[in-house]
Amino acid sequence: RHALVGGGTGFIGSRLTKHLGKNGYEVTVVSRMPGPQRITWHELAEKGLPSGVTTVINLAGQNVLVPTRRWTPGFKQNVWNSRVNTTASMAKAIQRSERNIESFINISGVSLYKPSERVYTEDDKGEGYDFMSNLCLEWENAASLPSESGCRVVKIRTGVVVGRGGGMIQSMYYPFFFGLGGPIGSGKQPLPWIHIDDLCRLIQFSAENEKVSGALNAVAPEVVTNEQFSKQFACSLRRPSLFAVPEFVVKAIFGEERAALLLLGAKVKPKRTLDCGFEFKYPTAKAACDEVVKSSAN
Ligand code: NDP
Repeated sequence: RHALVGGGTGFIGSRLTKHLGKNGYEVTVVSRMPGPQRITWHELAEKGLPSGVTTVINLAGQNVLVPTRRWTPGFKQNVWNSRVNTTASMAKAIQRSERNIESFINISGVSLYKPSERVYTEDDKGEGYDFMSNLCLEWENAASLPSESGCRVVKIRTGVVVGRGGGMIQSMYYPFFFGLGGPIGSGKQPLPWIHIDDLCRLIQFSAENEKVSGALNAVAPEVVTNEQFSKQFACSLRRPSLFAVPEFVVKAIFGEERAALLLLGAKVKPKRTLDCGFEFKYPTAKAACDEVVKSSAN
């Protein structure tokens, strides 16, 4: 098998390319920068898919939560285009390909589920109520095109990805390590999350399982709040979790709209993911936090 991975240089992408390599895949990355085992987005548009590709996966996207970047219209456009346009380019390349591509796997987020008392599953289509939810819906739309020509399309909606060396854990690690960590805002908001190894395994599972198509929630079965996750992480590190980050600080750093990503959250269950037969290696926050702390110590 040969996977083409957009954004394969990022936090999730680099872990995924290693994972697929270990499992017998040839991997080509699509990046803005040329390099070995890589093609650029421009080359993809010009020349189409490299020969032999069987699976196309998109993980590209400008990081939203960069505290040094102001939430300006220009930055928002960059956040939008880096997701929707890359997915659309891949979809177009699959459509134009003379060979049959087995699967197209697009990784988006759970922001299309509006925070409320409800528990959401993949049966919920989601609704556009703010920038991030509209983005997720448009991103999934852009991924749908190849299904018209018989390519299996899997739309993975992922929660916060938990793993060493990137994402949320990277910003949490040192404050917690020095005993200064704690929940964000009230801490009562749900925190849908998944361990990075489970996400990589779910992507491989989706690529290889002919019966899988449509939306899959990539969130651990255990639904926890931000406070419960913070307490667990501190406990795995053998530190206290005392200092909550006040809501107004989060809003001052990120602005109201982006702060909602940290201060609010929906309760999300991986119903279809489990029904398809996927087994989580890290189903609980304890299992995931213990692994992250153990691997960070090595
Ligand atoms: P990273 O920021 O680590 O990496 C994403 C990659 O996207 C980069 O390596 C980069 O590749 C590419 N990229 C960045 N900006 C642009 C741009 N303006 N145009 C085109 N490509 C760009 O992200 P993650 O690995 O953490 O996340 C991957 C995807 O998963 C993203 O779409 C993200 O929204 C989504 N996701 C991540 C979550 C998380 O907790 N990490 C949670 C939910 C969803 P290069 O420099 O090689 O071009």
